[in-house]
Amino acid sequence: MSIPERSLPVHAPMNQFAVEDGQLVVGGERLAMLAERVGQTPFYAYDRALLKARVAELRLALPEGIKLHYAMKANPMPAVVGLMAGLVDGIDVASAGELKVALDVGAHPQEISFAGPGKRDVELRQAVASRVLINIESFREVSVLASISSDLGLPARVAVRVNPDFELKGSGMKMGGGPKQFGVDVEQIPDLLAKVASAGLAFEGFHLFAGSQNLRAESICEAQQKSYELALRLADGAPSPVRFLNLGGGFGIPYFPGEKRLDLAPIGDNLAQLVQRAKTELPETSLVIELGRYFVGEAGVYVTRILDRKVSRGQVYLVADGGLHHHLAASGNFGQVVRKNYPVTIGTRADAPEKEVVSVVGPLCTPLDLLADRMTLPVADVGDLAVVFQSGAYGPTASPQGFLGHPACVEVLV
Ligand SMILES: *Cc1c(COP(=O)(O)O)cnc(C)c1O
Repeated sequence: MSIPERSLPVHAPMNQFAVEDGQLVVGGERLAMLAERVGQTPFYAYDRALLKARVAELRLALPEGIKLHYAMKANPMPAVVGLMAGLVDGIDVASAGELKVALDVGAHPQEISFAGPGKRDVELRQAVASRVLINIESFREVSVLASISSDLGLPARVAVRVNPDFELKGSGMKMGGGPKQFGVDVEQIPDLLAKVASAGLAFEGFHLFAGSQNLRAESICEAQQKSYELALRLADGAPSPVRFLNLGGGFGIPYFPGEKRLDLAPIGDNLAQLVQRAKTELPETSLVIELGRYFVGEAGVYVTRILDRKVSRGQVYLVADGGLHHHLAASGNFGQVVRKNYPVTIGTRADAPEKEVVSVVGPLCTPLDLLADRMTLPVADVGDLAVVFQSGAYGPTASPQGFLGHPACVEVLV
């Protein structure tokens, strides 16, 4: 009788990047040459062809009536936003800084929406002057927008962000349901809509965003259904027909061992039903979903060079020139409860048969600066390039680059 091997959870295969002569190929270039071209390590590289392929894959899986918005906080590199602006139907910004980038790269103001819980008065003013859609998140914002609109002689285009009475089950981050700093509780929406109407703002619709980083299609479908039903109920009390309904997003990507890629098929079926219903129930409404990491996360790698190889009491450490200060999420310090390894490889020896258990650490004087904790990786030495996959979202702009005064990383779109 054979004893079944204990099957440890493994990372989802990272086969979006080819391997040639042992080297990972990113943006059509082998990694060592790409590093020469960039001129320094550490760097982030985002693969243009993969970004395009991801949008195409979504278009194929989802019904035609669904508009795709890119939530650019996931990756606000201007070149990436510019590429995405040409591929998707709108850009969602979360600050006036992001709004500037979106406008600079040529995104059409009609297709930009602005959400976020603490919009400063000047940001609201910039948004009105830019003629973008503002997702209202409080009663105070209505008052401020009323006075800006009359000042500028330009009624603010607004949607109301609703904090629903349900949450997105199984999300990495819950952003709706229960008490939240986001949006306005559904119970208060009738009062808010009355205030929007009397303030003379240009009401366009509703925004719901229940949560993020979800790998369970059935939970996403459930949240989309509930969001649609909720908006349908609220539409009765709206000052004008709903033209815009943002059903949120939350599509996740596999980061950790045991996680599998999201199955788009049931989500496509579910959205097709909603599109069909909206034809009669909300005939003037565009249905939108907004995604950040799902568009960009899998197309990016973080590349760092091994500076030192040390053995401490039997454990091998590869000390790299990059770490937590550029990639907080891979170090495990960006919202994870229990630290787990991102998928990592040695990009200059990607298919080497000799492997060993190593920890890849960064140069910072803190044990938190850990990119790979006792992972089985190809045997590597000083000069090799370590690669962190799934790094196209929430990378450099979500990391404390000033911490310890090391050089900043570079980003390239290739
Ligand atoms: C952050 C955010 C997103 C993007 O989330 P992802 O997990 O990157 O898809 C979308 N919409 C809103 C309102 C957000 O705050």
